[in-house]
Amino acid sequence: MTVLPVLYWPDPRLSQVSTRASVDDGTLTLARDMLDTMYAAQGRGLAAPQVAHLTRLFVMDATWKTGPHTPEIFINPEIIWRSDETATGPEGCLSIPGPITDVTRASAIILRWTTPEGAIAAQKLTGFRAICAQHEIDHLDGILTLDHLSPEARATAEAQVRP
Ligand code: ZN
Repeated sequence: MTVLPVLYWPDPRLSQVSTRASVDDGTLTLARDMLDTMYAAQGRGLAAPQVAHLTRLFVMDATWKTGPHTPEIFINPEIIWRSDETATGPEGCLSIPGPITDVTRASAIILRWTTPEGAIAAQKLTGFRAICAQHEIDHLDGILTLDHLSPEARATAEAQVRP
C-alpha cells in the first residue's frame, strides 16, 4: 500500500491541463497508489494531478463509505454526452480542505475511457458517479471547484480553506 502526497490549492500544478496517459505498468501502479491515497484521505474520487502526475487518469469509489468497496480506474476519460438537465450540489475536494461549495453540473453523462486491461469502455453515469466523474475530469483540465464560483462565493470559499 502506497499513500502518495496530495497537492493542495493554490499549487499551480492543479491548474494545468494533463496529457494523455499510456496504458502500461507505470500507469496501473499509479492508479493503484491513487486508490490507496483516496481511501486514506477518506475520499471517493482522486485525479492524477492531485498527486502531482499531469496525466489523464482518475479513480473513484462511489460506494465504499456506506457499503462495499467498488474501486474504479478511468484512463483517458472523455465525456461524450451531457444531459441538458443539471443538478446543483455540495462538493468538497481533497486538494481544497475546508470549504464545501455548491457546483452545478450535468445530472447525467456518457463517459468513454480506457480500462486497466486496455479496452475501450463507455457507460452512462448518473447520480453521484456522474457528478464525481465531472469533478475529476475538471482536474484533468486544470479546473477546480473554486473556478465554478462567482467572485463573491469564491472569496468566501477561499477564506474557508484550512491552512
Ligand atoms: Zn477535487
